[in-house]
Amino acid sequence: MIVYLDGKYVDSNEAKVSVFDHGLLYGDGVFEGIRLYEGNVFRLAEHIERLEYSAKAILLELPWTTQELIDITCETCRRNNLRDGYIRLVITRGVGDLGLAPWLCPKPTLFVIASTIQLYPKEHYEKGLAIVTVPTRRINPAALPPTVKSLNYLNNILGKIEAKQAGALEGIMLNDQGYIAECTADNLFIVHKGAVITPSASQGALKGITRDTMFDAAKDLGIPMREQNLTRYDVWCADECFITGSAAEVIPVVKLDGRVIGDGKPGPITAKLLANFRQRVTREGVKL
Ligand code: PMP
Repeated sequence: MIVYLDGKYVDSNEAKVSVFDHGLLYGDGVFEGIRLYEGNVFRLAEHIERLEYSAKAILLELPWTTQELIDITCETCRRNNLRDGYIRLVITRGVGDLGLAPWLCPKPTLFVIASTIQLYPKEHYEKGLAIVTVPTRRINPAALPPTVKSLNYLNNILGKIEAKQAGALEGIMLNDQGYIAECTADNLFIVHKGAVITPSASQGALKGITRDTMFDAAKDLGIPMREQNLTRYDVWCADECFITGSAAEVIPVVKLDGRVIGDGKPGPITAKLLANFRQRVTREGVKL
């Protein structure tokens, strides 16, 4: 596998970062997880825009133009002869001294890995996923806005471990007010009386690229969709539930904490949104 690292395309065995890189020492950096479908880098411009906003939010000045980041991402895919896959683009604060001081890191580190991913077993896409509510709360936006896709994923990782300990592959994270923020690595949606509802970013959700795609898909299909504060009660009483993410795509959720949601089967509105999503993935983005 060929990896892009700091200006060079190198073999993955040689793709190594310094132990003094602040991405490693402090989780000081930002990243994106992007999908490639039949040679189309899905919504790449949107991913790069989110990356640039994440960098701006942590005062990390990027020496690359948007076009350069797009070109590097596409070239990494090409060098690996990849037509379908998952791309991880990471920018760290760079190499510096011990000590937090980001201003002592002269230049950011950039690497791009173009590989594959299968997050959830196939059967869950057909039968639906059983998820749980995890005890760890989503980090408060006043401490670190979850809208920043930063290298600080410990909050989500604790949630992920708790979900696994409860026998589930994904878990809902509540915010410190008890409203649903999102899942550990996916956005959450419910369907109630024909309308699709999802928590807003201000409740602690990442502005997911797949989440955005759901808004466009719902518009196409004439399905009403809105942002609204949600509690677990709303999921208990929902007709349908599903989660979205670049890696996960769109997966129906049929159980929460052992309670059956709706009739316990993937719902028709989820299926329509998924079909619309499938049509979009090879069309919207940057062709290799
Ligand atoms: N929330 C979190 C915490 C995430 O890490 C992700 C990405 N895996 C998502 C939501 C989904 O975002 P996207 O659709 O852009 O992948």
